[in-house]
Amino acid sequence: MNSLAIIGVDVVDCTGAPTRERQDVLVEDGRITSVAPSGTAAAASSNSGIVIDGAGLTLVPGLMDAHAHVALLGSDGTHGDLPWAEHVLQVVDVIGRALDEGFTTLRDACGTEPIFATLVASGRVRGPRILPSGSVLSQTGGHGDLRPAHHGGSRPPTIPGLVARPEVVDGVDAVMRMTREQLRRGATQIKMFAGGGALSPTDPLESVQFTVDEIRAAVTVARSWGTYVHTHCHTKPTMHNALDAGVRCIEHGTDMDEETADRIVAEGVFVVPTLSVSHDLLQAREAAGITPAQIAKLESMQGRRDEGMRVMVERGVKMASGSDIVGPVQDRRGRELTYKAAVIGNERALVAATRTTAELIGRADDLGTVEIGKIADLVLTDGNPLDDIEALADPVRIQYVVQGGRVVRDQRSATATAA
Ligand SMILES: [Zn+2]
Repeated sequence: MNSLAIIGVDVVDCTGAPTRERQDVLVEDGRITSVAPSGTAAAASSNSGIVIDGAGLTLVPGLMDAHAHVALLGSDGTHGDLPWAEHVLQVVDVIGRALDEGFTTLRDACGTEPIFATLVASGRVRGPRILPSGSVLSQTGGHGDLRPAHHGGSRPPTIPGLVARPEVVDGVDAVMRMTREQLRRGATQIKMFAGGGALSPTDPLESVQFTVDEIRAAVTVARSWGTYVHTHCHTKPTMHNALDAGVRCIEHGTDMDEETADRIVAEGVFVVPTLSVSHDLLQAREAAGITPAQIAKLESMQGRRDEGMRVMVERGVKMASGSDIVGPVQDRRGRELTYKAAVIGNERALVAATRTTAELIGRADDLGTVEIGKIADLVLTDGNPLDDIEALADPVRIQYVVQGGRVVRDQRSATATAA
């Protein structure tokens, strides 16, 4: 039996309970078996496995990013243009870095070939569990149709087993076929662009993409496979189309208002606001070659999105957490929590990135909180994130990461060895 004891740690369990100071947390065969005031659990002394001194540290559930793009290595949000061997190595780096920063689960919101999830699950690549959407479905001229307006012909293809490029499909039959194809290749849920984006080459932000019938076709196929559809939506008409079609999750949700929020609550749908991506673009505006008109658009979207998040909190929308970060480095993934905390507070930002994302991916029984019986995906950080959210945003402060009961990052021993 593999066991782990974390002694004397402050626990933020993300169930809504207040911080419990100086607890012993015991783990056997990958699951949490006890959380009790330090020194009271007999198992701590009889434990023959690994012991971590958690004094002065805070333990939280493993973090989750419900909107990752680990294979979109171009700073413009495309796959970039590395030689394929280098591309694969870089994706592996990005995945490993996410784990070191305390992320034990990534739902990949398109672009990543499901083989990467398989390689992690089989232990051949070090990283968080990955739930890949595979190739995103886009209509012709939609957010995933990356041809410039003056290019007519074909787009660079998806290469199964290597790269999952956007798939452009039109009409109910084509959507059904492509949804089945994504599921066959290992997608765990289906992603669709249901409206325009801020920076894609030809589609207006306000455009509504796919008909309700087309989205519903994907929903029908996904449900019959036991999974769901999530849709990129910034505007209100796109959100209502997606709701009419029966999606489980709305990405971005920028123009949320009370009417839409109430409908989302009534239908049990999740929303994943993504803050890091627009902060990144505005910070790197010159390097990214963004025009003044695009900057104005991004700033206006940020204001509407922050207001929309306040509406979601007030109306009780289930808000999960996604970063939408892209590019070659993808570090400081936890900064999404800092940006969210500035709008909705530290605890809500942390719960979004743990418990609510676990509910969204259908793993609430196993993941998302520190409770007896759950999988021991845990993070020990220097500082209590309920008081200081930077304790999760600054990777240097992440002291230990535990994945399924195994210690996969040990910053203290690493520092001691280096000294
Ligand atoms: Zn995205």
